[in-house]
Amino acid sequence: MYIAENLNTIKSQLPVHVTLVAVSKTKPVADLMEAYDAGQRIFGENKIQEMTDKWEVMPKDIEWHMIGHVQTNKVKYMAPYVNLIHGVDSLKLLQEINKQAAKNNRVIDCLLQVYIAEEESKFGLDEQELDELLKQVQHDKENFKNIRIVGLMGMATFSENQNQIEKEFKHLKTIFDKHNQLETSNLKLETLSMGMSGDYQLAISCGSTMVRIGSSIFGSR
Ligand SMILES: *Cc1c(COP(=O)(O)O)cnc(C)c1O
Repeated sequence: MYIAENLNTIKSQLPVHVTLVAVSKTKPVADLMEAYDAGQRIFGENKIQEMTDKWEVMPKDIEWHMIGHVQTNKVKYMAPYVNLIHGVDSLKLLQEINKQAAKNNRVIDCLLQVYIAEEESKFGLDEQELDELLKQVQHDKENFKNIRIVGLMGMATFSENQNQIEKEFKHLKTIFDKHNQLETSNLKLETLSMGMSGDYQLAISCGSTMVRIGSSIFGSR
């Protein structure tokens, strides 16, 4: 019962333009089903194998989001069904997603992950790499027909320092706004994925349109 309650509390606080991704990594299917029965239809996982196992047994009207770092050789396992890949951070990965999407006659939506944190451990593109990747996708439309870049994703420094986190979220929003005029068949930035259990309210105040919340819904991992 507590999962449905947590979910309803969080949903009641979210502005209508903000999409909630329920991050269910490590949690059993029964927990996800409790969220599903309470109306949740978007789930985020960070391991392709685990996500695929859950996709196989759960209702087919669920949207599955891959929020973790993706290894190129595993893209094929999620290509038949994944709805949004949050952590795209290289041309090579984007090429593989396009190739596997084509094999499945699909167009797969992707977010480019931008590096905004201070710590060294986080994946993502720096601003210059982002510029280059965006240019490449625009100029090479023929080779990127089966992907669509629909936004950006970022993770703030793991810290208690709210000023630091706010600065990083605002920085990502500035980068997002800088590119929001771009529009080609395979590229239009509409989604800004930032904010987790500890910082989603701050992220929303800085312009997030998609929050990825795990422990505040399902409990600690
Ligand atoms: C685990 C994870 C989350 C959710 O974290 P919580 O603190 O449990 O809300 C969000 N985004 C990514 C990329 C994650 O790996």
